[in-house]
Amino acid sequence: MLVVSLAPAADAANMLRTSGTGHSVRPRFLADCNVGRLARWLRALGYDASYHARIDDSELVREAAAENRVLLTRDRDLTKRRVIQTGVVRAILIRDDEVTKQLRQVFAELGLELKEALTRCIECNSELETRVPAMVVDRVPPYVRRTQSRYSECPDCGRIYWAGTHWQRIREVLLGL
Ligand SMILES: [Zn+2]
Repeated sequence: MLVVSLAPAADAANMLRTSGTGHSVRPRFLADCNVGRLARWLRALGYDASYHARIDDSELVREAAAENRVLLTRDRDLTKRRVIQTGVVRAILIRDDEVTKQLRQVFAELGLELKEALTRCIECNSELETRVPAMVVDRVPPYVRRTQSRYSECPDCGRIYWAGTHWQRIREVLLGL
């Protein structure tokens, strides 16, 4: 199992900061239009990350408040809103353009640890269901069939996920930080 900590040791203390505000151990996210790729990566890591291709700022803030989600945005003006300044809605102003650096910032600020996860559909944010190989082998490429034994399926879009390439790619990108 891959267990990599993205956060420097000092950031472990930040975990305490989030626990007092009603956030669960595993925060849920709402990504602004400008950080859609970040949402996909968070899903790949098992986090519930909502994203709408088109949504106006007021609606975005309302949804974050209603669903107790951490708002992720690159829009500084958005973070100046009163509900965010007063801490009613927690927001992280994403500093970098590059998605791996964005991920690192989110993990550091919330004191999260990177653990292997194959639990959520990258496309629709739905929770994946475990499948025995017999149920999916006719829908995956032969090389996957030969090498993989752990599969999951998205109940909404039908995408099949397997640990191999998915995790290899994440590992490569994140360890390359
Ligand atoms: Zn899906």
